[in-house]
Amino acid sequence: MKNLIVITGASSGFGAEMAKIFNADGYPLLLLGRRIEKIEALNLDGEVMIRHADVTDQGELSKAIKEAEKAYGPVDLLINNAGLMLLGNIWKQSATEWQTMLDTNVLGVLNGMQLVLPGMKERHHGTIINVSSIAGFKAFQNHAAYVASKFGVHGLSETVRQEVSGENVRVMIVAPGAAETELLTHVTDNSALSEYEDWKQSMGGITLDPKHVAETVKFMYDMPQEVNIREVDIAATRQD
Ligand code: NDP
Repeated sequence: MKNLIVITGASSGFGAEMAKIFNADGYPLLLLGRRIEKIEALNLDGEVMIRHADVTDQGELSKAIKEAEKAYGPVDLLINNAGLMLLGNIWKQSATEWQTMLDTNVLGVLNGMQLVLPGMKERHHGTIINVSSIAGFKAFQNHAAYVASKFGVHGLSETVRQEVSGENVRVMIVAPGAAETELLTHVTDNSALSEYEDWKQSMGGITLDPKHVAETVKFMYDMPQEVNIREVDIAATRQD
């Protein structure tokens, strides 16, 4: 029997592709998001629990994880994928947008990790994969608050990796480049959005297929527990 995998932000983009690929391989899944109708529309068969969970609400996350663990056993992989990218210059962008990004991209990751780490440490087995970004180690104009959040994901992931490695628990980072998902649909600053589109066009308009990010995450997880692929940066070949 395979171990339980939890994926946050499973309703679109990378998370939906990860749900499909792990489901096809027979893993029991807890799929989380706020638009659960979009997760249901993936039409996955088998051991799949779908629950509403906002990653900024640790109580909601905890309730869903406990329910899934009761049905399928302990969580062996948590993929902290939920995230938001709101572009803009900080002298124009609203503080609400910074707050939403930091709450989702940083506190959301901390919330999930705090819930599953005690069990993983006790079992001396488990993996956390945090979805960061190339913007987690490289600056991009119009991305200040997003870059702050993803540098945060890199920093906290490496810190926790060092803290739990002695107990055989793995913490990994996947840092994708630009991909076609719903990420840009939330951007409210039209000039930042059009500069982003121009940047993509300057690279031939070719971005990552989310499927390839999902395949990479599965490869990272499928390595034996004694091997930790600490970080993978993956981008379209043409990305600068
Ligand atoms: P999408 O917008 O397609 O997916 C984002 C997912 O996050 C959705 O499923 C959304 O679900 C979920 N989400 C957002 N806010 C919350 C919240 N508060 N609570 C729970 N779920 C939430 O974008 P991507 O697939 O591209 O994004 C996935 C991750 O990949 C993000 O962390 C993003 O920063 C990162 N990334 C994306 C890149 C890209 O170019 N696309 C490049 C590098 C990194 P719902 O709205 O249903 O809650």
